[in-house]
Amino acid sequence: MPSTEDDLRRRAFLFSLLSPVLNKYVEGMGEGKGMYLLFVKPEATTASGLTARTALTSFFNARLVREALSARGTSSEAAMRCTDVEESMYAQLLCGLAHRGEVVRVGSVFATALLRAVRFLETHWRALCDDIRAGRADPSVVTDASCRDAVDAVVARPDPGLADAIAAECAAGSWRGIVRRLWPRAKYIDAIVTGSMAQCVPMLEFYAGGLPLVSTIYASSESYFGINLRPLDRPEDVAYTLIPNMCYFEFIKVDNDGEVDTVVDLVDVEVGGYYELVVTTFTGLYRYRVGDVLQVAGFHNAAPQFRFVRRRNVVLSVDVDKTTEDDLLRAVTAAKRLLEPLGRVLAEYTAYADTASVPGHYVLFWELTPPPPRHDDGAEDVHVARVMASCCAAVEAGLDAIYRQLRSPVRRDVGPLEIRVVSPGTFDALMDLRIARGASVSQYKTPRCVTRAEDVALLEARVAGRFFSDAAPSLELASLAVDAIAGAT
Ligand code: AMP
Repeated sequence: MPSTEDDLRRRAFLFSLLSPVLNKYVEGMGEGKGMYLLFVKPEATTASGLTARTALTSFFNARLVREALSARGTSSEAAMRCTDVEESMYAQLLCGLAHRGEVVRVGSVFATALLRAVRFLETHWRALCDDIRAGRADPSVVTDASCRDAVDAVVARPDPGLADAIAAECAAGSWRGIVRRLWPRAKYIDAIVTGSMAQCVPMLEFYAGGLPLVSTIYASSESYFGINLRPLDRPEDVAYTLIPNMCYFEFIKVDNDGEVDTVVDLVDVEVGGYYELVVTTFTGLYRYRVGDVLQVAGFHNAAPQFRFVRRRNVVLSVDVDKTTEDDLLRAVTAAKRLLEPLGRVLAEYTAYADTASVPGHYVLFWELTPPPPRHDDGAEDVHVARVMASCCAAVEAGLDAIYRQLRSPVRRDVGPLEIRVVSPGTFDALMDLRIARGASVSQYKTPRCVTRAEDVALLEARVAGRFFSDAAPSLELASLAVDAIAGAT
């Protein structure tokens, strides 16, 4: 994406709107620091000599943003710039823990990075406490000299009292509410939890201990779009108000069958309507399809507010069925409730359409926390197997009428849905693989559908159990839907 100085200023302007909005709803914001976990990737140079960097790195380089983060954040700049992701995470958490008493908010750009940080803390808290006790970062862990110097300056002096207090919270058994317990003055968690991040909400709420989850911004590498004017709304109610001077906004009307051939301006969108976002940016993208589908939730004065619905292209399909990211999220959200009797929660999931088998079928990879029990001989626990089979059936029941018809015993165009339970840490490994391929930690979003052979192979290698739907879903209205499709094609 082209990036210019002028555009960075525009993005920094939108960023500067966030604090006044939050100040309206949260008291005492200026009385402490934010622990923001940000990961800046190194710059590269294109063949024609232009600098190339991730959008977040550009944003971070804007003076206004850098100044705001270093004045009001706990992480040292060198820690955010450290190119080794593990070292950077360690160093930033160390700074955040050293400032424990001052932290009034905890966050990252997207929820995924924050969940990753909590999991990292679970395995590294003892070493972090040792460093606070010693008053310096362990050089064998933080090997990058500039990062270490910066962190040492933050940790500054041995503080056994602080180390013991943190260790007591971490060793207390359950990690429920750990964020609030470790940073008792925190007022909220700042991370995007809408769209594909909605899956992170239950885990984040578990760790948050009642702190509100605040999604402040809707933005992309192409342009920044809007802000959330009611930051304390529940994640499912969040709507973003587009800021009209960020770029020129247009909207392709979308209905259940896909897009409709109408493009409207920002002033012409209607409440309840679904639209695909199209932008013309100051940096030269002309009527560019961002790939996001939004729904108009209401208005702020005359400005429309949008709920993020889904990415346009994330579609599972093995026949004439089309299952979007949003459809899948809804079906999985309903089905995962069945895990409750097992005392397990769904930590992460993704899906792929297996068309190598005949008929093709949907495969979901689920990572459960804690992992389900198995017998010593590796055999599946009967109770687990029964619950997982019912989860498969419940996902199918939550999919649309076309899917259910194709799956019916009469048609058998789609095979029984399969859930493959993967071992703990699989989704971190998937994230690592994608980071190694060039993704940025801060901008990372768990893909809700995988197609690359490399990604599927990684997931496949970590499968601990396979379960199939034991019941074809109910057909109500399904045959009508398929007939309608058949008529249209
Ligand atoms: P990137 O260019 O990697 O930063 O990704 C931008 C994309 O992230 C957007 O086009 C959206 O699909 C997604 N995204 C950004 N902000 C939000 C948000 N507040 N809620 C849901 N999805 C978002």
